[in-house]
Amino acid sequence: MNTFDTIVIGAGMSGLTTARMLVDAGRNVLVLEARDRIGGRMHSDRAAGFPVDRGASWVHGIDGSPLWDLVQALDIPTLEYTVGSFQVGGRPIENFDGDGNAMDAAATAGWIADVEHAERLLAEEISTSSPGDTYLDVTERALDRSALSPERIDDVREFFRHRVEEQCGAWIGDLDAHGLDEDAIDGDEVIFPRGYDELPRRIAQGLDIRLGHAVTRVVRSPDGVVVDTAVGVFAADHVVVTVSLGVLKARAIAFEPALPDAVTGPIERLGMGVFNKIFLQFPRRFWDEGTYVIRALGEAGEHWHSWYDVSAVSGIPTLLTFAAGPFGRHMQELADEDVVADVVRSLRSLYGDAVGDPVAHWVTHWGEDDFSRGSYSHLAVGSSHHDHDELAGPVDGVLHLAGEATWGEEPATVGAAYYSGHRAAERILGRAVDLVAFAAGIRAREADAPRA
Ligand SMILES: Cc1cc2nc3c(=O)[nH]c(=O)nc-3n(C[C@H](O)[C@H](O)[C@H](O)COP(=O)(O)OP(=O)(O)OC[C@H]3O[C@@H](n4cnc5c(N)ncnc54)[C@H](O)[C@@H]3O)c2cc1C
Repeated sequence: MNTFDTIVIGAGMSGLTTARMLVDAGRNVLVLEARDRIGGRMHSDRAAGFPVDRGASWVHGIDGSPLWDLVQALDIPTLEYTVGSFQVGGRPIENFDGDGNAMDAAATAGWIADVEHAERLLAEEISTSSPGDTYLDVTERALDRSALSPERIDDVREFFRHRVEEQCGAWIGDLDAHGLDEDAIDGDEVIFPRGYDELPRRIAQGLDIRLGHAVTRVVRSPDGVVVDTAVGVFAADHVVVTVSLGVLKARAIAFEPALPDAVTGPIERLGMGVFNKIFLQFPRRFWDEGTYVIRALGEAGEHWHSWYDVSAVSGIPTLLTFAAGPFGRHMQELADEDVVADVVRSLRSLYGDAVGDPVAHWVTHWGEDDFSRGSYSHLAVGSSHHDHDELAGPVDGVLHLAGEATWGEEPATVGAAYYSGHRAAERILGRAVDLVAFAAGIRAREADAPRA
């Protein structure tokens, strides 16, 4: 007889959700986590005395979102920040033109109109695209039809390229034409002044989680599964594998017998992007109060193009910028100090000497992280939306996969991780799990055992 009903591999949002739901249903569950912390790609670094979200920051669209319902049910405070999906307007953005000059209201309105015009043509091109078309192909066709001047086309092209990099961590020519279809944002976006990992930490309370247990092998048989780690071997009736697509692609875990084509096909076809964050704290603010984003277009924004004001989290003037796609990978080869100096140089080309030397910085390297091997999944050319859900299995009735890459409706998000974890729990239990009751269960446990 197996010691556990289910072993969950990975203590990120998806794994913790599955584990919590199964335990709530009376199952005996073990969570094996390779790192020395839980949360996975939700990582709030509190070493400086305030949270720095090195992984996820945003709920991208709160309308009709069960994730948002959970956040509210747990009374987690949030800040409205509706520019996390690379919007061109909608909230105050300080735009600089390709020469590094601040754009006035009229120029900004013209810029927004250019992007919105091109966006409408792009939607048409995507809807009539053929299999194998890349996002670059459809973008170029839209721009060809736009009748904008060559200079304005260049700026809009850069904007679309940067949007793909930030949203997918990929080069625009590697993304399928449909790669941003699931990117629609319903309602406001929010960030978490107490750190986003409060969410997985509260779900995790009371679970049997073994940190420092990197799984190396999963053997399945009609009787269940045996899971190897460097620290011990564990057996269960079911296993839920929630490691990232990057970890699956790297074959860091051996599966015996080998996973079927129905699962390995999506692993090969889907892409794993790189998206890194650079937080800089300054002695004083040099941008306007109320600005959400600083954005440099064209030449001025070749590498560093968008800075997000996240000062409200720490009370210290703080900008967050990103390095994603090919540049995000390249950035990882540089010393952090050189990266910071390069970002500061870019800001000085916009604001001059008003930009003081940073007093603190944080630089992520998600592409080099052994237990993530990238930031999130995307629809690489040749893959389809179905690949995401196909990746979930189950395999032989005993092996399930969950995690952001297994959820086709909005992959690459915390929501996807949450919903895929929910789906895995429902499949194992063979019945529906009510999300309202799930949240209420977390609250009830906290009331019984107040948090430290
Ligand atoms: C920089 C960055 C910014 C992001 N921003 C946002 C955002 O603003 N909004 C949003 O919705 N999403 C965002 N995301 C995506 C979001 O963080 C992820 O989609 C989500 O957290 C993934 O959860 P998961 O459970 O699928 O995977 P993970 O969180 O990766 O969990 C998998 C777990 O498995 C563990 N593991 C790996 N290998 C092994 C092994 N061999 N044995 C045992 N354990 C192992 C890992 O350590 C990890 O804890 C961002 C991601 C990154 C990297």
